[in-house]
Formats: sequence, structure tokens, C-alpha cells
Amino acid sequence: MYKKINKLAFGSGSSVVVERCQVCGNENLEQVLFLGYLPPVNRMQPIGEAPHEQPSYPALVLHCPRCQLVQLGLIVDPKIIFPPEYPYTSGTTKILRENFAELGRECRTIVNLAREDLVVDIGSNDGTLLSNFVSDCRVLGVTPEDVGKLAIERGIPTIISYFDRDVVAKIVAQEGHAKIVTAANVFAHIENIHEIVDCILELLSQDGVFISESHYLFSLVETLQYDTIYHEHLRYYSLHSLKYLLEMHGLEIIHAKRIPTHGGSIRVYAARRGTYPVRDTVSALLDEEKQAGLNKEKLVEFKKRVVLSKLEGHSLLLDIKKQGKRIYGIGAPSRASTLINYVGIDDGILDCVMEVKGSHKIGNYMPGTIIPILEESKLFEEQPEFALLLSWHIADELMPKLKQKGFRGDFIIPLPNPRIVRNSEI
Ligand SMILES: [Zn+2]
Repeated sequence: MYKKINKLAFGSGSSVVVERCQVCGNENLEQVLFLGYLPPVNRMQPIGEAPHEQPSYPALVLHCPRCQLVQLGLIVDPKIIFPPEYPYTSGTTKILRENFAELGRECRTIVNLAREDLVVDIGSNDGTLLSNFVSDCRVLGVTPEDVGKLAIERGIPTIISYFDRDVVAKIVAQEGHAKIVTAANVFAHIENIHEIVDCILELLSQDGVFISESHYLFSLVETLQYDTIYHEHLRYYSLHSLKYLLEMHGLEIIHAKRIPTHGGSIRVYAARRGTYPVRDTVSALLDEEKQAGLNKEKLVEFKKRVVLSKLEGHSLLLDIKKQGKRIYGIGAPSRASTLINYVGIDDGILDCVMEVKGSHKIGNYMPGTIIPILEESKLFEEQPEFALLLSWHIADELMPKLKQKGFRGDFIIPLPNPRIVRNSEI
């Protein structure tokens, strides 16, 4: 049934409108929110270059009433979203490292791992996740980026390739089946999700366990993280929609929990139906979602909150700009592009955006604008009255750091409720 999928955008050089649910095939999808036409976040124009024609893509958010998946209404060819010059950085932060260490400990309470068992990580990047397994079992990473070479240098065997049937056949022939397969932040990005789950099933041993981590729809709605909506993220999962997807392939969720990465994510353990006891955590989180009512009504309310936060943001910025004060942005993560373009922040409002020394984004304009991205030292030299935190989900970590480095101005936190935090309060 799930073979009836949308036409693929991959390799089309263009985009494809989602006509049926990416998971269950339902053609009656409900519109939740339209964030306008957004430019691709990784295509930046150099400072000084005259703005020229650029594509932008509609960000319409849809909800499937059958499987509960929230998804984008347009899939853009990954070759446009991830151009070859896309300078990929691993983004392995302290919070990610701690999370993967915790995953390593937790999964041993569920699966008995022997020395000869194999752990495969899909999208293994620099090998951080697998470093928690390398001392007591066999590990193998699969990652398409060159950063995989870094993992190999660190002693983590890694295949530099996309995860597909050919790679799975090669792994099974050479290494055997995997006791554990992990995929952190993979499920939202890959177009043909059913193909990926099929590949995971082929790779897993009969008693194998699949562990996935995805940005969590519940957190997105609760804390109004609409700025994590952009064309790299095709799907926004709840436990209900993950359950629906995995059950279509005969997998059963045996444990689920919320984790703090990326502003709120969900970790799910799944295995072939009946091979492991199902922990109470699964029904508890499903109940929590039901009580919160992640349904059409809740999503309509979400849209209203998004609109109000935009208008409140305008009002806060109006007061500051009337007084002729300067605002510098802090950080240019992908999510900043959605916020800036949706709220309509231009170079007259935001003087510039600061990135730490060494960032490949320095020297370019923010996508869709002519707001320059400059090196962070400028913040401390010029001391603007306000710093707008574009990575606001880690505001508590950022504010003391900037103050300690010498910033004397105040902070603007744009979401969920736009507000000012005085430097003296830090
Ligand atoms: Zn669906």
C-alpha cells in the first residue's frame, strides 16, 4: 500500500508538490500554516554582489488526519537544498555529545550487546554516536559527507556513501546483520522514507533493535519553534506518526522518550513485532500526546500563536527602532532564515548577524535579504544596544557567554514570546 508515493523530487532539478501523505498515502491533507516563500537556507550570496534572481519555495505545512504526520507541502530536489559547495559542518555540540553518551548507556538496558555484535549508524557524520560503542562491540558508520574521513581517523570504520540498498547488501555480505541500527536526524530529511525503513529492516538481525532520534512535533508546537520549518525538514513526527510509519513495516515501538537535542527531540526504539517487551514509556507518551491533542484544532491554535508572535515581534522592534537603537543578530543557523523571512526582518531592522570566527557563513548575506554576516568580534567592538538571539532555543547558554566575553547591551529573545532580557539580569 505504501508503495503509492509521491513523484520524487530527487534529481528533478526542481520541486514536487505533495499530493498525498508521505507516510500513509492519504490524499485528504489539511492545511495548517503557510510561512510564505522561503529561499534555500544554504545558498548564500556574497556581500557586495548585486542581488540577482534566486529561487524560493512555498512553505505550506500540512497535517494528515489518518497517520497524524505533519509535513511540508513541497519537496525540493536535495541537489538544490544541499548544493555540492554546501560546506557541511558536523555541529557536534556538547548537548549532542552528552545525548549520544546517554543513548549508549540506555540502549544497554534494552539490548544485550556482545563483542561480536555490530552497531551501524546511518548519517554517522564524525562518528560521535558510535564512539560510545567502539570499545565493546563492532561498529560501522555510513555517511555521505567527507566528514566521515574524520571518523575513520578516530578509529570508527565508516563507509562514505548514501544509505541505500547497495550499501546494505555490501554490509550484510561483509559484516553480517546489525544488532543495533541508529539514525539520528535522518528521518525528517530523506525523501523516500519507506525505502529507508525497508533498508533498515534488511540490515537488522532478527533480534535487532532500531533506534531513531527526530525533532519532536510536540516540542515544536509547545515552544512555537516554527522556525525549524524549512525545506530540509520534510516531516515533523509525533510518536503517533512514527508508530504508524514503523508498524507499516512490521516494526513495534518498544521504548520512547523525549530528549533535549535540537530544541526538543524524541528517541524511539523499535524491533520486529514480539521480539522485546514493550515498555510503559510508549503508552505513557502516546497518552500525553492524546491529552495534548496534537490534532487539527491544536494546530489551528498553533497557527494563531505563530501569527501573534510575529506581530508582537514587530511591536517590540518598532519601539527599539523608533529610539534609533542598533540591533545585531547572533548566529546564522538554518532556522534563522525562516524567522527572518517570515517575520520580515530586513537590513533596516537588523544591522548585521554575528558568526564565530572560522564560520563559512561570514562574508555572505542572510538568505533572502542583504543583511551581512560578519565576524563576532564586531559585537564587542561596536557594542550595539541590542543583540537578537537567532539560536534562541539555547538562549540560556548564549547570554552568559556573550556577557562574559564583554557584551554590554541587552538581549532580544524572539520566540516563543518576543521579549527583552536586560544585561543586568544575566
Ligand atoms: Zn498520513
